Amino acid sequence: MLDTVSYVCRLVDMSSSNKNDNIIEVEALIVGGGLVGLTLGITLASVGLPVVIIDRVNPQTTITPEFDGRATAIANGSARVLKGIGLWEAINSYVCPINDIRVSDGDSMLFLHYDHREIGNEPLGYVIENRDLRLALLERLYSLDNLTMLAPTDVSSITRNSSGVSTLTSDGITIRSRVLLACDGRNSVLREEAGIGVTRWSYKQTSIVCSVFHDLPHNNIAHERFLPGGPFAILPMKDLTNRYRSAVVWTDSNKLMPGIISLDDESFVSELMIRFGDILGSLELAGPRWSHPLGLSHAKKYVDCRFALVGDAAHAIHPIAGQGLNMGIRDIAALAEVLIDARRLGLDIGSPNIIGEYERWRIFDNLLLAFVTDAMNRLFSNKIPPIRAIRDVGLGAVNKIAPLRRDFMRHATGTMGDLPRLVRGKPL
Ligand SMILES: Cc1cc2nc3c(=O)[nH]c(=O)nc-3n(C[C@H](O)[C@H](O)[C@H](O)COP(=O)(O)OP(=O)(O)OC[C@H]3O[C@@H](n4cnc5c(N)ncnc54)[C@H](O)[C@@H]3O)c2cc1C
Repeated sequence: MLDTVSYVCRLVDMSSSNKNDNIIEVEALIVGGGLVGLTLGITLASVGLPVVIIDRVNPQTTITPEFDGRATAIANGSARVLKGIGLWEAINSYVCPINDIRVSDGDSMLFLHYDHREIGNEPLGYVIENRDLRLALLERLYSLDNLTMLAPTDVSSITRNSSGVSTLTSDGITIRSRVLLACDGRNSVLREEAGIGVTRWSYKQTSIVCSVFHDLPHNNIAHERFLPGGPFAILPMKDLTNRYRSAVVWTDSNKLMPGIISLDDESFVSELMIRFGDILGSLELAGPRWSHPLGLSHAKKYVDCRFALVGDAAHAIHPIAGQGLNMGIRDIAALAEVLIDARRLGLDIGSPNIIGEYERWRIFDNLLLAFVTDAMNRLFSNKIPPIRAIRDVGLGAVNKIAPLRRDFMRHATGTMGDLPRLVRGKPL
């Protein structure tokens, strides 16, 4: 993990600031300093745009080990974005490359194997602990003069009109900007206040996440095992303590998971072993467990007057394919490209045409992925014999047909479609 001591963010700590009538003028205000908001702020500020990020949570608490135990699979396309915004150096020693992915269906003999060498020399993706990514983002934020984070603070009121946006924080700071970018997560209050509807449903499933030490090396292989209650994923992690380590994302029904999370360590590991099998030898818990109830939400539109939704505020999906943050990073790359290109031409970055271009670029792609992950979960999270037979034949067929398999792999790496410059590895 990164050294927390070196964390000194140029952050205005609102809990101790004096509450004068301050006015800040910037080009973009980002509400929500999660992984998406921070990455977006850094992307825009690194090419000269003055930006403020506000978050209701003090970032110091978000980098404590208790805050978020997740490790995220970053697709290769997203890794290119993180490289393009100067973040890679800080996280390079903490990421674990995923070279192969092995997908299986319960105890079926048919499986699907992705080998990165079939589509080039780069890994299919990388696994990083959310905490390490957050620390690197906060450190990068500190190095950018035109990026300021105000936290902890909340939004009191927002006025948007054709000439600009004026946002008042709960601490009496007024922030004037050309555009307001909502990165406030799946339950976005800004989305609701903008009157943007959302399609949503619950999966009636919960994911338990944890990390484990194991006896045998993971060989940079990620495993996804489809079980009747939900997918069981094992992600290779960087070994930092001379012990082999992997992250587990274990999804099952809401009925089962409260009982599982409350088991003592020994019984929990026994349950894990049943699903894990012996591919990595014996297991030991490497830290606490967290649980996340799962649901899908997709905003009916992404933009409004001088306003855009980004990341989970626009779309939150099932983690079955590890794509939620990757979608958010592609949003960031596309939005940053349209905003920066407009600014280079001297245009108003908050005008409807500009932010509308972002929506047109991203909404279909995100909707499609939301649909695909939803369909995958429905198809695989059951044990109905005819459905099982069909999906196993499908897995086996994709595994046998090389061009199809390579196409699937390129989709998983996030390098297919109409890609923003940063995702193609080009400068912004
Ligand atoms: C179990 C699980 C496993 C996952 N695995 C993967 C994976 O392997 N790969 C992948 O790509 N994705 C994965 N995801 C998805 C990924 O975690 C999310 O897509 C991503 O974290 C969303 O980030 P965000 O910044 O948009 O939202 P959030 O992380 O929800 O951040 C929102 C931020 O906004 C702030 N905020 C909210 N309201 C306000 C307000 N009114 N004022 C100020 N601030 C506010 C919050 O404090 C927070 O900091 C997984 C998700 C789950 C549940």
